[in-house]
Order: sequence, then C-alpha cells, then structure tokens
Amino acid sequence: MPATDHAVEAETERLLRALLHVDCEPGRQWNYEACRRLAPLTLEINALKKEKDAVILTHSYVAPEIIYGVGDFKGDSYFLSLKARESKAKIIVFAGVVFMGETAKILSPAATVLVPDRGSGCSLADSLTGDQLRQLKAAYPDAAVVCYINSTADVKAESDVCVTSGNVYDIIARLPQRRVLFVPDRLMGDNVRNELKRRGIDKEIITSDGTCIVHDVFDAQSVADARARFPGLRVVAHPECTPEVAAVADFVGSTGAMMKYVKNTTAPYFLMLTECGLVSRLQVEAPEKNFIGGCRLCPYMKLNSLEKIRDALVSPRPEQIITLDEDLRRRAAHSIERMFALAPADPL
Ligand code: SF4
Repeated sequence: MPATDHAVEAETERLLRALLHVDCEPGRQWNYEACRRLAPLTLEINALKKEKDAVILTHSYVAPEIIYGVGDFKGDSYFLSLKARESKAKIIVFAGVVFMGETAKILSPAATVLVPDRGSGCSLADSLTGDQLRQLKAAYPDAAVVCYINSTADVKAESDVCVTSGNVYDIIARLPQRRVLFVPDRLMGDNVRNELKRRGIDKEIITSDGTCIVHDVFDAQSVADARARFPGLRVVAHPECTPEVAAVADFVGSTGAMMKYVKNTTAPYFLMLTECGLVSRLQVEAPEKNFIGGCRLCPYMKLNSLEKIRDALVSPRPEQIITLDEDLRRRAAHSIERMFALAPADPL
C-alpha cells in the first residue's frame, strides 16, 4: 500500500534530522529534496522488515541513508556479530560485505541471511583461501592460528581463534603458543608485532600478505603536510594502516575506538585515516567536530544500496542468500565463540 503524504512528510523530516550534517561524500548533499526523494523507499523497506520479520545490520562504512534510513543496528564487525548472534529474526539483511554476511550465518544458522550485493567482496578477506591457509599451517605446525574477523568462513574454519582490531592484542597475548600465524592482514600483523613488543610480550608473528585497499594507501608524509596546515590537528588511524602511519597518528584503534576517541577529545580538527562512512557517522553523532578531508571510500561497501536491500527483502535472488556447509559453519563458529570466550566485551 503506498505511503500517505503525511507518512512521507514525517519520514522526510526524520531523514533530514539524521543526515543534515553529513557532507563528506563528494557530490552528495543532504537537503530536504534529497530526503524527500528517499522517504518512500525507506518507508517501504521499514514496512517490509515488519512484514517479513527481518532485521537490517549496517556496517559503519555503508552509505548513511542505509544506516540512518533503514538500519536496526550500526557498528563494526564485532558489534554486528553479537547482534547477529542475539537475533531472533527470521531474516537478517547484512548491509556490509560478504564475509560479514557469512559471519552472521555462522552465528545465526536458523536465519535466512541476505547480502544486498554478492559482489561486495573485500581485498583483505579475499586475499586468502582456506586451501592457502592449510598450506601455511603445514609450514608452521606449532603456531597458533589467529584470523582477523575480516576473513572468509573457510579461513575462520581453519583457525584456532578469531579476533577483531579491538581485541587482537589481548587475545594474542593470552595464547600459550609463542609463535602465531596471523591472517590475512599483513599490516595489522606488523602493528600487532610492534604493540606487543612495546608491551614487553614475546611473540613471533607470522602473517599472510593481504591488505585493506582503503587503509593501506595512507602515508606518513600526508600526515606531516596536514599537521603543518592545521595546527592542533588530531590524527586518528585504524590498525589496518601501515606501521609508518600508525607511528605518526595520535590515536590508533578499531572503528568503535576511533569514534569514542573523537567524541571524547577536544581538538580544532581531526584527520580520519579510515573509510569515509565513519566520518559520516561522526558528523551525525558529533556534529560539533571538524574533519579535514582525507578519508577514503571502500568500493565494496558502496555496492550496497536501498534499492538492493528492498529487492532482497521482496524476493531474494539466489546469490543474495548466504549458504554454508554445516561442518564448515560449525568449525568457523568455534573460532568465533573462542574469541567471545577470551574477550567477552570488545575493549574497543
Ligand atoms: S574497508 Fe577494507 S577491510 Fe573493510 S571491506 Fe573495504 S576493503 Fe575490506
């Protein structure tokens, strides 16, 4: 049933209140007309959610109209994994990338898990297959196998424990093995090695060769240039950045930790060395903060759209439905449950 004019007007006002301060996406401006164009679609999706008993999980890097228009929960991989695990909904739509949909299916096997666009891969997750990890394990049989949550279900199934960018240091520090095979992020592995050394913890960290194409391009010289132009600038980086960038940042942390740092820090300007979606979220949730440019867009995350979410809810195409072999799912679940046991609350 088409929405009434009154419902569309109220939805337009709701979207406008949420999105008014978002301005880090080139060519997009959140004014009344833009919100008015979206309102019928967000109303339709929100009605479909009720009708189909669906919940929509939205990663911080997807477009703000998805997060604030139709999302039930927003956050990083760890938080959304918890929400998938707790969910009683029949359908989970994961607006993020495919490995996140797989993680939701691993933790909530009874639900139908949908991804809006099957092409939403990830340069990190797709850098290592289960077969390649089995070869690495054969080369280092005494190593604990630790996978970053940004990995495929196959890789999680081959791992002893899964970690996030928030709990990686504490979990690796607590493992009995000295030698650790950390996959698939080479740069995060370098940052973990440096941080554990700084903490006086003796571990040998062996990595595979994946990187995040969003975070691996930031460089220390650009940080120096920005500091010269903006006195008092605070530089915030993700541990998927290079160690050289991490070394010159004021703060390095997970998505959740970066948000907390910015909200709790007084500074004239912030430079966010991460995906622009996080800056959009901060512009909504901390509109008094000033951000200089520099963030980057993840092409995989930006494949998500309201139209694709609507279509998946109305009648999902086979490739939008996440399916996993049950034995593989159970083994992958074991590595994630071990993470929850070792780090029940993400330290951010
Ligand atoms: S931002 Fe990087 S790690 Fe996240 S989905 Fe995109 S490529 Fe993968």
